[in-house]
Amino acid sequence: MDFLLSEDQQAVQKMVRKFVDREINPYIEKWDAEQHFETGIIEKMADLGLMGSCIPERYGGQGMDYNTLAIICAELERGDTAFRTAVSVHTALNSMTLLQWGDEFQKEKYLVPQAQGRKVGAYALTEPNAGSDVTSMQTRAIRNGDDYILNGGKTWISLCDVADHILVFAKTSPEDGHKGLSCFIVERTFDGVSTRGFKHKLGIRAGNTGEVFLDNVRVPKENRVGEEGEGFKIAMSALDNGRFSVAGGAVGLIDACIEASVKYANERETFGKPIGKHQLVQQMIAQMVAGLETSRLLVYRVGWMKNRGFRNTRETSLAKWCACDAAFNAAVDAVQIHGANGYSHEFPVERYMRNAKAPVIYEGTREIHQVVQGEYALGYRKDKELRKYLPAWPFEKEEAVSRGAGGRS
Ligand SMILES: Cc1cc2nc3c(=O)[nH]c(=O)nc-3n(C[C@H](O)[C@H](O)[C@H](O)COP(=O)(O)OP(=O)(O)OC[C@H]3O[C@@H](n4cnc5c(N)ncnc54)[C@H](O)[C@@H]3O)c2cc1C
Repeated sequence: MDFLLSEDQQAVQKMVRKFVDREINPYIEKWDAEQHFETGIIEKMADLGLMGSCIPERYGGQGMDYNTLAIICAELERGDTAFRTAVSVHTALNSMTLLQWGDEFQKEKYLVPQAQGRKVGAYALTEPNAGSDVTSMQTRAIRNGDDYILNGGKTWISLCDVADHILVFAKTSPEDGHKGLSCFIVERTFDGVSTRGFKHKLGIRAGNTGEVFLDNVRVPKENRVGEEGEGFKIAMSALDNGRFSVAGGAVGLIDACIEASVKYANERETFGKPIGKHQLVQQMIAQMVAGLETSRLLVYRVGWMKNRGFRNTRETSLAKWCACDAAFNAAVDAVQIHGANGYSHEFPVERYMRNAKAPVIYEGTREIHQVVQGEYALGYRKDKELRKYLPAWPFEKEEAVSRGAGGRS
């Protein structure tokens, strides 16, 4: 076991922290208040290689290890959840899915420009009547010669107005339940694709989230990812990566809550002493510290498993549930420590609290993760073999192929 970050990881951490301090923190209150998604940040992150950090160099990425993605997400979320969400969706949910499941044509055409940050990817699973219950989706894909015709609509899709390529899940054989779903790469420029961003979300107001409409969209069969009927497995394995990045981000949010709370607790005085000297305030900070350290360990363990090519569905779900809960609790307590000031936007903690709620809902709600953990523990849930796995790291080594479910430590 090695708890030290490598020199490369430390360098990336420092670089992203500086980037966030310079390019995000001075403007984020304004963007949040104006509900403005600053696309320039995506371009700057692309220049720094942050959009394809853990994608192999031969596919346009930086070839860094999977824990580097978690580190980047933590640093971004110290600034704001919006830009971490962008990386989660673009890199973890979309690009890593193409890396795992895409064929060479799809990797060359779509993954390479995404990993270089020249194109942006999104992931469209949720529908108005299908969130946790994915197989209730109604979007249809009907084979028509060498194409599929897609009709339907997706909602709550991050980066909907910004993405060039959207991974869309649709039913190819509705009678087959979860075996009737397939996955498609849909380009924004395809005829019949339109999007509409939401306003007035509770949090992540500096982010872009909304609807994707598909009206007789003709998608070439070359854009089907995986086999027909494999969409459910692809969607779930994508979440193994997305959830990891969300959990990584939560670590950064807890860190930000601690920083703000410690500063305030040392400055604000009541009853003749700084509030940090009151034990009940110390208790709230102590809980944050416990949340930070346990979440970070859970996240790094998942990154370690990914690096070795071990199946990590169970561990990722646990990390995501615990880290997001800890981040939300930390943000609520950070507001509490700030008293009435925490209730104003003079301090960042109210934004942290609003932002921290969405990750408890997206990529598997808290309740879904609790069910998953209970079912694993009770022996009701077992990982099914997948046809393709994410490559282990380092990528260069020929023998670094995944060991799949059999590789559990
Ligand atoms: C800011 C934001 C960004 C998002 N980005 C994306 C995106 O990029 N792509 C995408 O596809 N989706 C995205 N989503 C959607 C998100 O993944 C869904 O909202 C989530 O899966 C929950 O689905 P739902 O909202 O339909 O809730 P429901 O599934 O209707 O759940 C409602 C409530 O019932 C509970 N519940 C449901 N089933 C069970 C059960 N079996 N046992 C116990 N409790 C249960 C849930 O935990 C929840 O409390 C985003 C959501 C938000 C808020």
